[in-house]
Amino acid sequence: MSGASAERAAASARAEALRREISHHDHRYYVLDAPEIGDGAYDALVRELRAIEAAWPELVTPDSPTQRVGAAPDSQFAPVAHAQRMYSLDNAMDLAELDAWLARVVAAVGERECAFTCELKIDGSSLALVYEDGVLARAATRGDGRTGEDVTANVRTIRDVPLRLRAGAAADPPARIEVRGEVYLPLAAFERLNAAQEEAGQPPFANPRNAAAGAVRQKDPAVTASRELATFVYQLVDPRSLGLSRQSEALEWLRAAGFHVNPDVATCASAEAVHAYCEEAVEKRGSLPYEIDGVVVKVDSFALQEELGYTSKAPRWAIAFKFPAEEKTTVLRDIRVQVGRTGALTPLAEFDPVTVAGSTIARATLHNIDEIRRKDVRIGDTIVVRKAGDVIPEVVGPVAGLRPEGAVAWEMPAACPSCAGPVWRPEGEVVSRCTNVACPAQRLERLGHWAGRGAMDIDGMGTELIARLVERGLVHDVSDFYALDEATLAALDLGRVKKDGTPVVLGGLMAAKLVAAIDASRTRPLARVLFGLGIRHVGSTVAEVLAAEFGSLDALLDAAAVEPLALGEGVTVAAALASDPVARVEGVGPVIAASIRAFFGNPDNVALVERLRERGVRLAEERSAPARPQTLAGLTFVLTGALERHTRDAAAAALKELGAKVSGSVSKKTSFVVAGADAGSKYDKAVALGVPVLDEAALDRIIETGEPPTADAPGGSPAADAPPVPGAPG
Ligand code: NAD
Repeated sequence: MSGASAERAAASARAEALRREISHHDHRYYVLDAPEIGDGAYDALVRELRAIEAAWPELVTPDSPTQRVGAAPDSQFAPVAHAQRMYSLDNAMDLAELDAWLARVVAAVGERECAFTCELKIDGSSLALVYEDGVLARAATRGDGRTGEDVTANVRTIRDVPLRLRAGAAADPPARIEVRGEVYLPLAAFERLNAAQEEAGQPPFANPRNAAAGAVRQKDPAVTASRELATFVYQLVDPRSLGLSRQSEALEWLRAAGFHVNPDVATCASAEAVHAYCEEAVEKRGSLPYEIDGVVVKVDSFALQEELGYTSKAPRWAIAFKFPAEEKTTVLRDIRVQVGRTGALTPLAEFDPVTVAGSTIARATLHNIDEIRRKDVRIGDTIVVRKAGDVIPEVVGPVAGLRPEGAVAWEMPAACPSCAGPVWRPEGEVVSRCTNVACPAQRLERLGHWAGRGAMDIDGMGTELIARLVERGLVHDVSDFYALDEATLAALDLGRVKKDGTPVVLGGLMAAKLVAAIDASRTRPLARVLFGLGIRHVGSTVAEVLAAEFGSLDALLDAAAVEPLALGEGVTVAAALASDPVARVEGVGPVIAASIRAFFGNPDNVALVERLRERGVRLAEERSAPARPQTLAGLTFVLTGALERHTRDAAAAALKELGAKVSGSVSKKTSFVVAGADAGSKYDKAVALGVPVLDEAALDRIIETGEPPTADAPGGSPAADAPPVPGAPG
């Protein structure tokens, strides 16, 4: 087969599959009122089919869903032939498509003045109402546009449908008029209905539209009556017979005749005004008591409408501007496994790029194998994608009917895709891990993490460059960054060649910049170093806490070397915690402490720390010359309870500035306890151990004067047996 005919064959097969799938969803939606997929995903399937049909017009079949409106009426209702066809509307999926339509209309109208009516597109089901001599004679659904279903008995129960025309129309009613509108379920009624469904053990309705369509098509009108339906009427069939020449006039006539006409209608003289209306509708959408799914823009003049005419499916004189869809469909091309810094293997969906909610996406995490099995997504599937919280791309699931033959369930690889090392899934965990610590992918991730923004922030040291450095054997671990020199970097082969065949190298300029960036990273705060090491559970917040508490990596290493009491006979949780100098730090706890201990328990990691030190990386907080005399040197303070004028951290920092140690727990070695409001067990312990307790006023004085407190200082209460007294001199 030639390339072109192979392409046509593929398009034909795809069109066939899409037609089958769309018909299935049409039936679920129009006949059963029970859709399986969202409108955005459905619209995407229709658009794909329309695109294929546009490229290969000979593939259009008369029964194609692109040529039809709605679905054939259900046999449980008497058929009604519509005197004038009920059309659907063409869609503009964004403002650009709306502009294109406006431009087409304006071009067709030429010199003549052309206004537009803008109406909210009510998300309900369409209805045709016939009045004979001013009295409601028949109500019908749209059906397939030519033949609908007779639902008169049901529609009579809807309270805002006039059974008899009012006002001017009532005095001299036309022998026969037909109006069209939307029957919908207000949101409050929808919620009540679903609550009742739930109570009765029935499945809830997918959305108000389907609930409304279902309510209109009930066998028993009493059921319809109980559903609290409402209508908005938007069209008068044959308005010229009533002497009306514009849509805006027809809406006025309908309102006067007693119909419920939506109040948010505007007549716009320009494309800009139409734009503004659409943008406002997007804003308004969430605050209306009913659902809308767009704006319908219509040419106001009936004479111009007639001139513009209809396509097989929709009027050319109107367009539905649809709100941006949060869901689209695309084809899943591959599931790739990413290896994280801790060896975690994460499956990543790679699909044909699609624009969702304003940006193009081509990738989304599938999290883990359980998630993939639950969603049952397979390579080759047509999938529905969306943006979770309108930001993070997410695979919703496959479109079941479009699964290619032979698509097999995806499995997690048994070997690491980077190093071919063994993959292990710990019992009870959903994440599989590569257990090889020397795995190159893990190493790259670790190196990238160290050089990254939140950690040592080495400007210019990106993933690609790191991969090159590793490949050339110049970097094995993070300490090797600090052994790189300008000459080596300048000559680094980037793996590309120039036109003349010579290899592209990093060059002197970049090398000098990098060396400066590496050097600048030597003096990053201790918290950055701790975070950069990539110890499990030590994120940037925990790293800050550890740095503030220990002040140096050595102090943390010493603390991590202490073997805490094991829980068990005679050892309470509190005792075990108290015996662990890392775990007892506020904001740390036993799990993080155990992870830190495991990290530094590995001699390789201790050796790495030593290499970092040798290569000039600062492993402690910067010690500037003390600004204040160290009058509190040798004293240990414990802060407890709520202070009014200081946060606990600020108070601790102020005391440390004067040379004091600030500890988290009270012991015999504690010099003073500062107690704020609602001080609890630490206060009690201080009293029990005879540790002097100070109040906040006393703390203020210390901070202000730098004078150490004396046991009998105001506010100080040696061996206090009563709560601290306010610090007034006494
Ligand atoms: P449509 O809903 O896009 O637009 C035409 C309809 O808009 C009219 O028939 C009318 O009922 C309504 N409308 C509301 N306010 C109006 C106003 N002010 N003036 C004129 N008309 C107004 O077209 P459609 O053919 O009825 O249905 C297609 C829609 O149904 C799409 O949104 C599609 O996503 C959805 N659908 C979904 C599924 C699914 O499985 N999820 C299946 C089929 C169809």
